Amino acid sequence: MSKSDALLIVKDLSLSFSFEKTLWPALRGVNLTLWPGEIVSLVGESGCGKSLTGRAILRLPPENTQISGSIYFQGQDLLSLPEVELEGIRGSQMAMIFQEPMTALNPVLTCGEQVVEVLVKHKHMSVQAAYEKTSHLFSQVGIPEPERRLQSYPHQLSGGLRQRVMIAMALSCDPSLLLADEPTTALDSTMRQQILDLIVAQSHERGLAVLMISHDLVAVETFASRVCVMYAGIVVEEAKTSSLFANPIHPYTQGLLLASLRNFDAKTKRLPVIPGSVPTLLAMPKGCPFAPRCSKAKAICQKELPKLRPIDDHFVACHLF
Ligand code: SF4
Repeated sequence: MSKSDALLIVKDLSLSFSFEKTLWPALRGVNLTLWPGEIVSLVGESGCGKSLTGRAILRLPPENTQISGSIYFQGQDLLSLPEVELEGIRGSQMAMIFQEPMTALNPVLTCGEQVVEVLVKHKHMSVQAAYEKTSHLFSQVGIPEPERRLQSYPHQLSGGLRQRVMIAMALSCDPSLLLADEPTTALDSTMRQQILDLIVAQSHERGLAVLMISHDLVAVETFASRVCVMYAGIVVEEAKTSSLFANPIHPYTQGLLLASLRNFDAKTKRLPVIPGSVPTLLAMPKGCPFAPRCSKAKAICQKELPKLRPIDDHFVACHLF
């Protein structure tokens, strides 16, 4: 496939918070490509810029931020589109599922009304046709008694059912791209697996591309075809999932995999950890942001930000290579 077949191309995406006349970079030159129908996972610790990347792609960044670079979706640069045209794409051709459905759903509208509203706005359906489609969608995403649930308010549903309503809403306009921002964080482990299975099944059935933001590496291995590892606002490694898990190259990726649940020691009840924490925007190191936590850091690591370059079948940003 050539680049022109790509569904989403993010090029040199940077985002800075503006505070007291100073710009504080939170994303620095993020590059990302998604092909139609594939599932790509963006992983990293909290504060690495995963969710910010998702929000920047939808052009819904937090207040007081500046974005640069380009985000091509189906060939159109979203960063230069007028807001009115972007509204036609957002929620329709690209949709997002958020971490916590209780805050994403409107508490004063029934679950049915919220999906119907989207269908009437984006698909210009009559209210009756929209209700029929919503009932069908509820049934497709495994909501029992869909007709009754159309009349339920979000607080009357369990966390798992609320997330299914969010998924139904996201799928309602048959988008080609779904951004899922840690969609299972607020759920228990059984429900977590069911929701992930549902998203993967819908991706396969509909040819839907999914950008899954996650910190759950064990889950990522089972469904993503490619993984991008982010650290402190930059992509530090990207590879096919099987290759990344078999042969992690970047020291941060190696640390993340070591610290994943599959290495939990049942005897000592301990998990290996990466010492230290993700730097804040106010204390970002000048060179490689991982340097303060990296046992392999060299002098150049303190001075220069490494660039992402091809190493074997991976892309890696590290001065060791
Ligand atoms: Fe470690 Fe240097 Fe590589 Fe950063 S660039 S991960 S500090 S070796």
